[in-house]
Amino acid sequence: MSGDPLLEVKSLRLSVRTDEGLAQILDHVELQLPRGHILGVVGESGCGKSTLARAVLGIMPNRAVLESGEIRFEGEDLLKLPDREMTRRLRGRRIGFIPQDPYLALNPVFKIGAQLLSMLRWHAPPDLRSESDRRRRVLSLLRRVQIPEPELVLERYPHQFSGGQRQRLMIAGALACSPALVVADEPTTALDVTTQLQILTLLRSLTEEFGIAMLFVTHDLGVVAELCDAVTVMYAGQTVETGRTNEVLADPQHPYTQALLACHPDRSGALLGIQGLVPSPLAPPSGCRFSPRCSYAQAQCSRRTPRLVREAPGRFVSCRLADERQRERT
Ligand code: SF4
Repeated sequence: MSGDPLLEVKSLRLSVRTDEGLAQILDHVELQLPRGHILGVVGESGCGKSTLARAVLGIMPNRAVLESGEIRFEGEDLLKLPDREMTRRLRGRRIGFIPQDPYLALNPVFKIGAQLLSMLRWHAPPDLRSESDRRRRVLSLLRRVQIPEPELVLERYPHQFSGGQRQRLMIAGALACSPALVVADEPTTALDVTTQLQILTLLRSLTEEFGIAMLFVTHDLGVVAELCDAVTVMYAGQTVETGRTNEVLADPQHPYTQALLACHPDRSGALLGIQGLVPSPLAPPSGCRFSPRCSYAQAQCSRRTPRLVREAPGRFVSCRLADERQRERT
């Protein structure tokens, strides 16, 4: 990746206080997302990817302890912003959100028109001050996300739509205030395969048309291959590999990425085929967190935490093997 990134996460370390102790949810997470690009964040359930997505939106888990790091958006560290500033200037405005479950995100007792228009009333850009301008904007977005008969749709309730249509409504809502970045948290997981493909195609064309960057959280490397320009692979709260999608998928360097590719995730996000279990965030293994499951593990892997090594421009891998390769090169 080159140029000034729109979004940059640097050495983010976040824990949660639990009754059993401190759970390390994110540990020195790094990522960069240039303007107009789509970055997939992929990993098993519980790897911290959704917590990362929510942290970008300024939504922290209960009893969170922010230990270190920065989340820079357009150069500004979001972690230093008071929540009222996030709400006033960024969340829902410069940073849109598409949730995993549109059933929960839409309020069942209000009509679609009222919900989309109220979003615009709160966060309206300067060119949408009047109610008729806002209504025009909503109708044009509904057409753009391929919702038929948008005038009638404004008068309907969420239960009158299918899962795919509801997700299209959420996409229209996320785009309403012309964001620079959209955070999407597994938005196609609950959909059937055909609808999933339609939504991915729609997201790709909308991000290109409006020049929007997207942080796309998923457990499915097939979705990453379909949609994302670049990918960050996370394991047990850490970034283990990042690079352009075609390069990472064609030639994965981290043993976890290799294992992930060799498996086929089921629809719940559980992976079939990697030996062993994801470690508990309450007691992660010392050194490399993947070492209890890694077929290349050696004694030193449990003693030292591998650093993120630059393998090529935009390509980083956190593994002893990458470290050794780099030392051989220099
Ligand atoms: Fe495997 Fe060691 Fe690399 Fe960890 S550091 S992924 S245990 S080879």
